[in-house]
Amino acid sequence: MSFSASIITLFPDLFPGPLGASVLGRGLSDGLWSLEARQLRDFATDRHHTVDDTPSGGGAGMVLKPDILARAIDTVSPPGDTRPRILMSPRGAPLTQARARQLALGPGAVIVCGRFEGVDQRVIDGRKLEEISIGDYVLAGGEVAAMVLLEAVVRLIPGVLGGADSHADESFENGLLEYPQYTRPQSFEGVDIPAVLTSGDHGKIAKWRREQSLALTRARRPDLPAAK
Ligand code: SAH
Repeated sequence: MSFSASIITLFPDLFPGPLGASVLGRGLSDGLWSLEARQLRDFATDRHHTVDDTPSGGGAGMVLKPDILARAIDTVSPPGDTRPRILMSPRGAPLTQARARQLALGPGAVIVCGRFEGVDQRVIDGRKLEEISIGDYVLAGGEVAAMVLLEAVVRLIPGVLGGADSHADESFENGLLEYPQYTRPQSFEGVDIPAVLTSGDHGKIAKWRREQSLALTRARRPDLPAAK
């Protein structure tokens, strides 16, 4: 069983978008993962296919109706579906590499993209939606956030990016930011590749990289535990 993503959205045509490019796109056509984007509006029952209504208690904007969204979730993810149900939300737990890795090892995800002012709290509680945020800023909708989440997850699915340990040194994987990378030419605008990297001494190279990672992490992200 490969990783299966189901997106509930008012803009299904946005998918796969960037997820269809490059190695993620190849993984998609090779069946290493699958994606379906479902139109929330198809679950509305009235003539106008209404999906939203004004906020109870007043205020600006519109709120996605719980009955329509619940019906969409129950259809896309019937009883027995073990995939986590996620709501993209600026109030959610910040997305981390650790959560991305957990999701990549699981059966997939059902992802709800909010729009307008958000969704009725009763569907968040009733369908046990895990709220995930991609950062402390507000987007117009959850679609781009869902793509960010999926891009972080799908590249970790075994086989999608190749080499099993190709992630080991990456930023956040060991709690540190990645060391600087170089490639040829040997000299660029008068600046040489650091000599240690062309020395062929793997012990020295590993040590240099570790030191660079630690220095960068301390300078830029003193909040990361590994910086302490
Ligand atoms: N009124 C809401 C914001 C609504 S933005 C609030 O103040 O919390 C509309 C939709 O965009 C949200 O329902 C959510 O699905 C998505 N969204 C906006 N910012 C996001 C973020 N930082 N991370 C994840 N999803 C986000």
